[in-house]
Amino acid sequence: MATIPRRTLNDGTSIPQFGLGVYHVPDDDTGALVETAVRLGYRHVDTAQQYGNEAGVGRGLRASGVPRDDVWITTKLDDDSHSRAAAIAALEGSLERLGTDHVDLLLVHRPGPDADRDVETWRTMAELREDGRVRSIGVSNFDRRRIEHLVAQTGVVPSVNQIRVNPRTPHRGLRRYHRRRGIATESWGPLREGRLTEHPIATRVAERVGRTPAQVILRWHLQQGTIVFPKSANPDRLRENLDIADFALSRREMLAISSMRRWR
Ligand code: NAD
Repeated sequence: MATIPRRTLNDGTSIPQFGLGVYHVPDDDTGALVETAVRLGYRHVDTAQQYGNEAGVGRGLRASGVPRDDVWITTKLDDDSHSRAAAIAALEGSLERLGTDHVDLLLVHRPGPDADRDVETWRTMAELREDGRVRSIGVSNFDRRRIEHLVAQTGVVPSVNQIRVNPRTPHRGLRRYHRRRGIATESWGPLREGRLTEHPIATRVAERVGRTPAQVILRWHLQQGTIVFPKSANPDRLRENLDIADFALSRREMLAISSMRRWR
């Protein structure tokens, strides 16, 4: 079974650097997908209240027979759950749907229109971490200014920021800021929703190293320390995406993939 690298977050928890995203997977299909993925060796699932498939994630995990504590579960607070009371109720709903007493990582899905309301959300999430129902907390789709606002008001630095990062949109400035602040970068859309697997640079590097385009792009993410969870409902692709731990890209190959950002 593949050995998945792990990263230690700024709160001391250790997260599998690779997992499965389940955006757009209907709840009815999510149980079988998560069960298959966990049986193949996946140990990290990224869902959200908004995806409507937390119950399926819970079903799949239980059906896999793998202990709850061996699988990292991330979920995200919906946009209408930013007040203290709504955030607590929303987390309780997630725990019930997932069938678990804690989530490993809770994210604010995206910043709201009112930065001060986000501070209230963030304080509440820090409380939920204290009482153990959430192990780590973070944000998603936040820019530097909005993160600094949260930190200035609460003193609590997010453990991760989940943003749309891929070789075409690498967000180098924001990632440099994350590194300075000790925030881990999570990439959503690591394959640019699959489109990068047809890019001629990905194809060329893949041929050179004897791997597939998806594998070299995912490997590019891992070698930069980014946490990724590509989505696929196809068992062959689930296997392919997971099989990225036993090879390395050279500096030249990394640079070739990074050069995709200059393509129009
Ligand atoms: P992705 O880059 O993971 O692309 C997924 C698509 O790529 C699949 O639908 C499939 O068509 C294709 N694909 C997967 N494996 C492949 C392979 N081996 N070869 C060829 N094509 C392949 O995009 P995504 O699903 O949008 O993002 C991943 C996860 O990120 C989501 O499932 C979700 O968990 C998370 N996400 C978060 C946010 C946010 O706002 N925080 C937004 C979107 C997605």
